[in-house]
Amino acid sequence: MRTVGVLGSTGSIGSQTLQVVRDNRERLKVKLLAASKISQKLLQQIKEFQPEYVYVAEGGEIDGVKLLSGEEGLEELAELDIDLFVNGIAGISGIKPTYLLMKNRKKQATANKEAIVCLGEVCKDRYGEIIPIDSEHSAVFQALRTGSKKEVKKVILTASGGPFWNADSLEKITPEEALNHPKWKMGKKVSIDSATLMNKGLEIIEAHYLFDLPYEKIDAVIHPQSVIHGIVEFIDGSMVAQMSNPDMRIPISYALSFPERWKLETEPLDLIGLGKLEFFKPDEKKFPLLQIARECGIKGGAYPTVLTVADELAVNSFLKGKIKFTEIPYIVEKILQKADFKKPESYQDVIEIIEGTKRLFQETYKTVGGKIA
Ligand code: MN
Repeated sequence: MRTVGVLGSTGSIGSQTLQVVRDNRERLKVKLLAASKISQKLLQQIKEFQPEYVYVAEGGEIDGVKLLSGEEGLEELAELDIDLFVNGIAGISGIKPTYLLMKNRKKQATANKEAIVCLGEVCKDRYGEIIPIDSEHSAVFQALRTGSKKEVKKVILTASGGPFWNADSLEKITPEEALNHPKWKMGKKVSIDSATLMNKGLEIIEAHYLFDLPYEKIDAVIHPQSVIHGIVEFIDGSMVAQMSNPDMRIPISYALSFPERWKLETEPLDLIGLGKLEFFKPDEKKFPLLQIARECGIKGGAYPTVLTVADELAVNSFLKGKIKFTEIPYIVEKILQKADFKKPESYQDVIEIIEGTKRLFQETYKTVGGKIA
């Protein structure tokens, strides 16, 4: 029996992780559920999965479990004796738990790309122990098992292109339209990042750190069918790709079962029905964040963190209707121009860069008054 702790259990990744657990009761036991607050959904999950520990950031009271909360509770959580922590936290609030789990050398499967990107400069020596859940990285992780690192010529991450890759103008896009992803059902932050292609930019940096590959060996292509998730090109010209329907339960199940594979009830991929696979070059003029992200990755130092935080704050402002869709890259670029942080050498340095970027965002936002020309 493998014990699991699910961080961000009420979110999109967390809920789908619990679906996979439900189908593997004889193999998996949930020992911990963690969420930001007590909700009906969390209480339902506790009732069904009977974890020994529950963590809620805000605290509160729940009968029948050992309840952890706040900063201290987070430290305790990261020390629990659990075989695999599944990190489904969205965005930068996942940085601290990701860091603590790595520090304590806990086995972690993670979908929290923001944490991987922000902690890359200071924790990359621990990344070999992480199992990726992000679908493209799970695909590459699987394909890499067919060869050795020195045989890798390149990895290619695919992007559906989001809802607008074919659109004429991005000027009047509403949060509702941007949240309506054509292929994947995901949380809000990652859906907006997919629409701006920032998601692919973050994933390029994520791949750089996770697989310890230089940026010139990491590419991204638009693949609207979203059936191939990632490709490894080897030095003999062979390309090994992982294909499946776009269903996050597949990479989650692989992370939970690794190094085995377990049966999962999924819709079979209908190749004949699909008919064709298409690939396009991303339009970097229309979606500047892809190129900006790659540049931040190459520059390294504080830049990946500044980029991640600036984007998250800009996305939140867009979701609240405060800025336009096209102002997301604009505001991120402005912040990157102003940023002047030294290269982080510790977790504490990363936290200072995050706080500094939040201040820069406030300043930048004020200068433009929510109305960026
Ligand atoms: Mn992804």
